[in-house]
Amino acid sequence: MAYGLGIESSCDETSVAIVRDGKDLLSLKVYSQIESHSPYRGVVPEIASRAHLEKINSLLAVSMEEAGINYSDLDYVAVTSYPGLVGSLMIGAQMARCISLVYGIPIVAVNHLEAHLAVIGLEREFPAFPWLGVLLSGGNSSIYIYKGFGDLEILADTQDDSLGEAFDKVSAVLNLPYPGGPYLEAKAKAYQLEKGEGNPFPKLLKEDGEEKIRFSYSGLKTAVLYYLRANSEAPPVEKISYFFQKTAFELVTRNIRKAITKTGIRTVVAAGGVLANGTLRESLEAEKERSQFDLFYPQKKIYCTDNGAMVACLGYQLWKQKSFVGLDFKVSPKRNFEQII
Ligand code: AMP
Ligand code: MG
Repeated sequence: MAYGLGIESSCDETSVAIVRDGKDLLSLKVYSQIESHSPYRGVVPEIASRAHLEKINSLLAVSMEEAGINYSDLDYVAVTSYPGLVGSLMIGAQMARCISLVYGIPIVAVNHLEAHLAVIGLEREFPAFPWLGVLLSGGNSSIYIYKGFGDLEILADTQDDSLGEAFDKVSAVLNLPYPGGPYLEAKAKAYQLEKGEGNPFPKLLKEDGEEKIRFSYSGLKTAVLYYLRANSEAPPVEKISYFFQKTAFELVTRNIRKAITKTGIRTVVAAGGVLANGTLRESLEAEKERSQFDLFYPQKKIYCTDNGAMVACLGYQLWKQKSFVGLDFKVSPKRNFEQII
């Protein structure tokens, strides 16, 4: 049996988890810093790193107790090393270094984005590689070709705002709380669509042909703003939310279709914070039926948010490959950062 600790501190969630054999979750603790950042409607790096520092020890202590193991029982410590806020990543990294140094346990440095996709290993057997990894979060709207653990190639990326960012910015102009995703989703659900009603927002990236695959949400954000200005007397918040989601998610399903055509890969794994959205999940399920592919995404919403379980889960696979790093490993804000092992 192998016991692994996963540490996540890349952004605004401090999280630790203990996983057995890469698939049995023994404990998961997540401290969300949302309350500290919400007055600023965005993550403040200095506040984030301080909060990680304040919380990480107690989360670890509670998690170890819940799992019923000691540090000396651990076979590896997995930690997010990139991408993320450097000051925040350093808190998790330093904790991993301490545990490694004191107990002689190897460190596995994990790509946060890959961990989001690999978390499905906690809910089921991994499907055979390669996958199309669709990452929709606060910082990313991208599609990867996921060839094997530690082996990702980017296929499509965002030109500007990510999908999560668009949710947060549009919800701000609609005067909804931060982060806006869940609030905007609730407003959209409450909308009673009228028969034959047209979408007030234009289709995104109409000019792209079948070959070009990319995301861009800043145009939709501007369209919402203009529509809101034109309807400022009585802003139809539910209607805007409904059509915002419809327009935004149409680009996601269209890009998945194009990616399948381009690569021939018919295994799609979707992940990231925006996958908490029930309407997005339904859109993906409908597209799966239409375009006939295998679809996987985290069933538990806690696995969509940043969490230590995904780090421990991917960490196990990398540990089996003996992908260890030394105590002097680096953290980085960059997505394409290569750890030198
Ligand atoms: P992450 O970057 O993976 O931590 O995810 C955070 C992002 O996910 C934020 O931009 C949130 O607004 C977004 N998000 C969270 N829940 C939902 C939801 N139900 N619908 C849409 N976006 C969401
Ligand atoms: Mg987050």
